[in-house]
Amino acid sequence: MSEFIGDYQAPEDLLEDKVILVTGAGDGIGRTAARTFAAHGATVILLGRTTPKLEAVYDEIERAGGPQPAIFPMDLQQARIENFEHFAEAVDQEFGRLDGLLHNAGLLGQRTPIANYHFGTWEQVMQVNVNAAFGLTKTLLPLLENAQSGSVVFTGSSVGLKGRAYWGAYAVSKFATEGLMQVLADELDGVSNVRANSINPGATRTNMRATAYPAEDPQTVTTPEDIMPTYLYLMGDDSKGVSGKQFNAQG
Ligand code: NDP
Repeated sequence: MSEFIGDYQAPEDLLEDKVILVTGAGDGIGRTAARTFAAHGATVILLGRTTPKLEAVYDEIERAGGPQPAIFPMDLQQARIENFEHFAEAVDQEFGRLDGLLHNAGLLGQRTPIANYHFGTWEQVMQVNVNAAFGLTKTLLPLLENAQSGSVVFTGSSVGLKGRAYWGAYAVSKFATEGLMQVLADELDGVSNVRANSINPGATRTNMRATAYPAEDPQTVTTPEDIMPTYLYLMGDDSKGVSGKQFNAQG
């Protein structure tokens, strides 16, 4: 069953003293989430593959007076377990804990029937959308346990809840994302302060949406800012004890 908390109103200091990692923080929903978390007091770790974009978000946060963020360039397409381990060590040395982990980076892949889908593209989409989320979760879990109430948030999609023609690896990867979230949440239940949930952003005005729906007027699509209440709710302590749930950011 899906949950909706899109009318949540976050206190300004909701994320004060929290350290939150956002993957795919250079653009789209991730960029807005990073800026929003910082605006609510969080020290944000910006992870992504395009350094100039991460630097731009860093500057935006600094200009807005948010806590100084950290930048960690990583191409999740190329990343292997050693890279995730190295990253976790770096976070441990710098912060000693992780309060929030937003798995946001995503790859759309092809919009084509399964019969025509390129095997290589399939592997790329699964690597970025699923394997990387697994690798980061696995290596960062001890740091999430070090926090008082760690929160892992996965990013799903409508096509990851009900399969739809031509969405190929993307849809399958989002089903897998829900699966990873559920397995993790069940393992943590009763034995850990860490919680795991997923957000389906719904149609949101980003480059990915424009690529998937080229004929759509972007001005008619909900902005990333509009869907932030759900992201804030799940990162903040108001969602303590909420785990294993799938949230729709739009009603
Ligand atoms: P965008 O394409 O606008 O942004 C995706 C982000 O992920 C970018 O910052 C991109 O980096 C990063 N990324 C992609 N591949 C890699 C990689 N190999 N390594 C590191 N970072 C990478 O997408 P959205 O903001 O729209 O999507 C964010 C999430 O929301 C995704 O998981 C998507 O599936 C999901 N979603 C989006 C919807 C929408 O309508 N927008 C609807 C449902 C789900 P770079 O900028 O350098 O390319």
